[in-house]
Amino acid sequence: MLANADMEFPTVEDPEGDDQPITLNNFTTLQKHPDREFRERVYEAFYDEWGTVRNAVGAAYKNSVKTDVKMARARNYDTAREAALDGPNVPAEVYDTLVDTVDENLDTLHRHADLKREALGVEKLRMWDLYVPLVQEESPTIEYEQACEYVVDAVAPLGDAYQSRLETGLDSRWVDVYETKHKQSGAYSGGTYDSQPFILLNYQDDVESMYTLAHELGHSLHSEYTSETQPYVYSGYEIFVAEVASTVNETLLTHHLLETVEDERLRRHVLNEYLERFRSTLYRQTMFAEFEHRTHEMAEAGEPLTPDRLDDLYADLKGEYYAPPNSTTASPASGCASRTSTGRSTSISTPPASRRRWRWSTTSSNTGRGPPSATLISCVAAPGSTRWNSCVTPASTWPAPNRSSRRSTPTPSTSTSSRG
Ligand SMILES: [Zn+2]
Repeated sequence: MLANADMEFPTVEDPEGDDQPITLNNFTTLQKHPDREFRERVYEAFYDEWGTVRNAVGAAYKNSVKTDVKMARARNYDTAREAALDGPNVPAEVYDTLVDTVDENLDTLHRHADLKREALGVEKLRMWDLYVPLVQEESPTIEYEQACEYVVDAVAPLGDAYQSRLETGLDSRWVDVYETKHKQSGAYSGGTYDSQPFILLNYQDDVESMYTLAHELGHSLHSEYTSETQPYVYSGYEIFVAEVASTVNETLLTHHLLETVEDERLRRHVLNEYLERFRSTLYRQTMFAEFEHRTHEMAEAGEPLTPDRLDDLYADLKGEYYAPPNSTTASPASGCASRTSTGRSTSISTPPASRRRWRWSTTSSNTGRGPPSATLISCVAAPGSTRWNSCVTPASTWPAPNRSSRRSTPTPSTSTSSRG
């Protein structure tokens, strides 16, 4: 509510001299602009605005974490993470394996960052370079109707019944398509057991939005089928399986476009989008999970969660994920720059690759077994009796979608399933 309704982001002048209002939903689009100086101004203006609510956001996050910890203890769990994973019956080892595997393969993400740095011809990659496509050209315009056509054709391998159901849904006003003032940012699929699915988008006429449409439709069809075949009590699905339906649709869309589209520019952007989806869905969500694990560990150890400490932790993680080891590359060398919620730019040193992040704190009394909540997967369930998949974490969300940690804590009233 704070970000969607109360905060007003500034307007900046673009290189053509036109006023460009910044919104929660067009921020990443503006961050893809070829003019680097413009991107930097957008970035600074956007996070300056966040800086004005720094303490409020920090306090809200701290209270969310402490609630998770207290609720877990009240139910005799050793840690908040144990409580969070107990509901979906996911062994802690699954969580640890994911985080460990991502940790061990950060070199792939570093290589991607270095390729982007080379493509941009810059000495150091900065945070306002992160969303620029590897492809040296603007994203083709994909209007909503065209995106619908591509997605319907792409899901053909799932069968006629699935395909026609999806097409009928698109024709039946399942989707609230475009951004409007004070509309919830991001993208969601929701509904109830006995209702049709409802999809909230903030469609931006680009390749990324087309993929988001495919993603949300995956959740919607999943919900349709599960509601149809399961009694109410079994109709929910956990976040660990929710993303299968949505990301399969993304992959089908990639295959379909590469097999059928001849426009080279679009083909290059499809490949770029596929790489970006790995960066955001696999790496970034795991980074959020590590952040949440550490903050819950800190709370469990009785450490204060001040905005400064949250900033420092987040900046360290950003450095570790996005800054290639300086021993092997001349790129972000001593690290990339990260903007924290304070509105200040922070230079990040590259930490040792082998360091286990959730064991940094020597004062922690926690068992250190891993992150406490379900943000490693990008969809999160939102409050209420309805089922919502929040599938696009807005770049503006600082420092990570807070909803997830709350929802992943077992509460009697929330049997709803879980995006991200
Ligand atoms: Zn999702």
